[in-house]
Amino acid sequence: MLRRKKESEHNYKDERMAMVDKLKTWGYLKSKKVTDAMKNVPRHIFLPEDQKPYAYEDRPLPVGKNQTISAPHMVAIMAEALDLNGNEKVLEIGAGTGYHVSVVAEILKEGSVFSIEKIEALAKKAKENIEEAGYTNIKVITGDGTLGYKEEAPYDSIFVTAAAPDVPPPLIDQLKPGGLLLIPVGSRYQQTLTSITKTKDGELKKKNQGGCVFVPLKGKHGWKG
Ligand code: SAH
Repeated sequence: MLRRKKESEHNYKDERMAMVDKLKTWGYLKSKKVTDAMKNVPRHIFLPEDQKPYAYEDRPLPVGKNQTISAPHMVAIMAEALDLNGNEKVLEIGAGTGYHVSVVAEILKEGSVFSIEKIEALAKKAKENIEEAGYTNIKVITGDGTLGYKEEAPYDSIFVTAAAPDVPPPLIDQLKPGGLLLIPVGSRYQQTLTSITKTKDGELKKKNQGGCVFVPLKGKHGWKG
């Protein structure tokens, strides 16, 4: 009995399943693919030691360098909105800990995902976390994600996990026709999660996906300073 308890404390499996159940009950998790992905990705691996005990609470947590990992419900909302088949090429802006991109990588059985992180120390840690979690279809790049990542463009989907004052034009340019950009746009302290579909004839169709609060997207097409 004691042994079983110790084991579950160690790998947080019970806590993770309980979190997934709550996200389902609350309506954030809808599809089997996103539900399975959130069951499989161990969020505690991505957190600093002192935050691991809170890994399966539904809230953002500090991860150093003034940055936060998003709340699990936000990861679920965004992963559902991307509506991936599993063979796409995807770009994330704001790798942070590497957790969110790992949830996407878990869905992309045949696809791949690139993630840009501006803060070098976080990019390095994200790579280590991703390696520990065992994902081989993720590449983390250090740089200014408001410029996108031309080397691998165009993408089926791009998602941004930091708050933008406006939509950075390079991200629209680097989307395939029919592609989807998911980005929080608004003020520094409150944003609207916005999905933008680029139609086959290059038109942009915007949809409001609800309110959210992210740390600022800095860089050429983001907040200055
Ligand atoms: N997706 C992350 C959490 C993102 S927090 C996770 O799962 O842990 C937002 C991240 O965006 C921070 O790490 C911040 O450093 C990064 N960021 C801010 N501006 C950026 C930019 N222009 N390019 C790339 N990353 C940026």
